[in-house]
Amino acid sequence: MSFEALGLHASIVKAVTDAGYTKPTTVQEQAVPAAIEGRDLLVSSQTGSGKTAAFMLPALHKFAIAEQSEAARTANQEAQSARARGERPRFKPAQPKMLVLTPTRELALQVTSATEKYGTQIRRVKAVSILGGMPYPKQMQLLSRNPEILVATPGRLIDHMESGKIDFSQLEILVLDEADRMLDMGFIDDIEKIIAATPAARQTMLFSATLDGMVGNMARRITKDPMVIQI
Ligand code: AMP
Repeated sequence: MSFEALGLHASIVKAVTDAGYTKPTTVQEQAVPAAIEGRDLLVSSQTGSGKTAAFMLPALHKFAIAEQSEAARTANQEAQSARARGERPRFKPAQPKMLVLTPTRELALQVTSATEKYGTQIRRVKAVSILGGMPYPKQMQLLSRNPEILVATPGRLIDHMESGKIDFSQLEILVLDEADRMLDMGFIDDIEKIIAATPAARQTMLFSATLDGMVGNMARRITKDPMVIQI
């Protein structure tokens, strides 16, 4: 099986080939075609299985297609004509299209750098990390660029959400990475609050070492007719 055969946009295939990947891993082979179709996913897989690309490649595929569309050009034109009229840019909350929640700063940074690697050919797509411990002014500056993709630990994200800096009404894709670890760390209430702020029509992909117990309960509540993948 090749990356082309998974149905990925040529720009993504080029990026992974440039990264030195020769073929998809098992989890990528199973997850990518279903995610491209828009299915929700519940995936039991370990670190090292290639799970980051399993959710990020289909998401970037969607953005690569949208990049070619009229909508992107129109938004740009509106911003330009507002500037031409001499209007000062008003404060607007970031409206991400994709959110990846991770248990730790380290994992969030890994996901963000993987996203940059896989998305090098897609010019308009920006990913930023929102992490506990990072100075607020720096995060405000990152959010003011209105990135398409936010990668965040739950606690700090809640702070920004509650102070009106992030609006999830345009969110299309939600990923919970290492969901079992997030629950072990006591993030359940934060996660529930964040999910409640996102549109019901989103695509949800949950990755976890196990899909049993508490994580299984949450998984069933937040996904619709998910494809279950056990590696
Ligand atoms: P992950 O499980 O997402 O943490 O990925 C583990 C490692 O595998 C990372 O260093 C990735 O860069 C690498 N990787 C992911 N997919 C592939 C692939 N299809 N071929 C070779 N390496 C990969």
